[in-house]
Amino acid sequence: MKRRNLYLLIVILVLFLVMVRFVSEIGREEPGRLTVIRVIDGDTMVLNGDEQVRLLGIDTPEKGEPFADSATVFLAHLVVNREVTLKHDFRKRDNYGRLLAYVYVDDTLLVNAALVAEGLARVYLFPDDIINRPLIDGLIAAQRRALAANRGVWSVPVRAEERYIANRRTMRFHRPDCRSVGKTAARNQVVFDTREAALYEGYSPCRNCQP
Ligand SMILES: [Zn+2]
Repeated sequence: MKRRNLYLLIVILVLFLVMVRFVSEIGREEPGRLTVIRVIDGDTMVLNGDEQVRLLGIDTPEKGEPFADSATVFLAHLVVNREVTLKHDFRKRDNYGRLLAYVYVDDTLLVNAALVAEGLARVYLFPDDIINRPLIDGLIAAQRRALAANRGVWSVPVRAEERYIANRRTMRFHRPDCRSVGKTAARNQVVFDTREAALYEGYSPCRNCQP
């Protein structure tokens, strides 16, 4: 009798484990294969199924600006007709409905960082998207190297200021006379002596005053 109870207990335990496994499989989202069919610009691509992906943590030059075309060509070369995997942060989509992601080719090459390393993209952070802090630190490190080597966008001469005012909440920095500075609360302001110092900390140039 005692042995029979033991068998019964084992059977129940096995059934329980199978059930737990089954339930956990249901909750798992099967991502499926994602292939890039074309790029729109240096930081936006289109997947099979017409889903658009905006690369997270970076910004490439706008159309017509220096290195905009180079960034587009470089991205296309890396991803078109390739299978990719996406890694999201706090926000999965932006206001345009595009997926926001870190994009890997062959599960190893982080496209976002490759663009920054070539000087074809600037680090462009949003305060909400900080879950993948190691990836962000990697982007900032790549930008420091590109900056030190005067690569890509960092080779374009820019009129220097005596100092720059950054906003620690928006992660942008400005020329002292930019209108945005007046709207920044004093407690959020960070002063830098040089543009490089702000860039080294991961701040991005304001799109209006273009420091
Ligand atoms: Zn500005």
